Amino acid sequence: MTARSAIRRLRPVPSDAEGYDAETVLAAALRALGRDRLVLSASFGPEDIVILDLLSRIEARPRVFTLDTGRLPNETYELIERVRRHFDVAVEVYVPDASAVEAMVRAKGVNLFYASIEDRLRCCEVRKVAPLRRALATVDGWVTGLRREQAPTRARTPKISLDLEHGLIWKVAPLADWTEAQVWEHIRANDLPYHALHDRGYRSIGCAPCTRAVDPGEDPRAGRWWWEAPESRECGLHVRHAELRKESKR
Ligand code: SF4
Repeated sequence: MTARSAIRRLRPVPSDAEGYDAETVLAAALRALGRDRLVLSASFGPEDIVILDLLSRIEARPRVFTLDTGRLPNETYELIERVRRHFDVAVEVYVPDASAVEAMVRAKGVNLFYASIEDRLRCCEVRKVAPLRRALATVDGWVTGLRREQAPTRARTPKISLDLEHGLIWKVAPLADWTEAQVWEHIRANDLPYHALHDRGYRSIGCAPCTRAVDPGEDPRAGRWWWEAPESRECGLHVRHAELRKESKR
């Protein structure tokens, strides 16, 4: 896609989405791009469930995809099934390239991520970032559950922006200014399904070997890649690997 065609798509989207609530942001993005060219990227955290609920009120059976890294907790697969039934959606599941996984684990072992940040980022690249690129090649915009209070790396997340990393498509973060409490209020008020591990002390959930429960009062993302320094704790889906490597060396 050229910059010119991407900017043409910009027109129907509010130029100042910051003042819009989540439903209005999603409605504007759907109106601008259409149901088939806008997709929710879901790891099935509570934010993704809220967004799917809001999207489903505007558009029946919105597109939603997930990245099955092959290392997810079984509770995530159970939730995917519950979500499929609850919202009557077809979850598009993207898996890593089998030969890339085989080459990586042959060279570095199955649990390479504990060895170094380089190896951890390599695993995230093969199992998450590369499949994400394939998924996003099918759309003109993606919706994420990013919230500004989740991490310093997310503190300036705009509600709608152009994503230069993935070929000038739209990136939509309708819950950017929501608090965690607001997210859970919406889940409970609407009796929506959520991840079973949240009831066992897990606040942010990714792959099983890279996620642990956190203590009450601890940073919600402290359970992700807990053996690393806080500034590198992203998988590369929203922050480029080059930036994470730079942060880890400071
Ligand atoms: S979160 Fe852990 S297991 Fe999952 S892709 Fe990243 S390094 Fe690999």
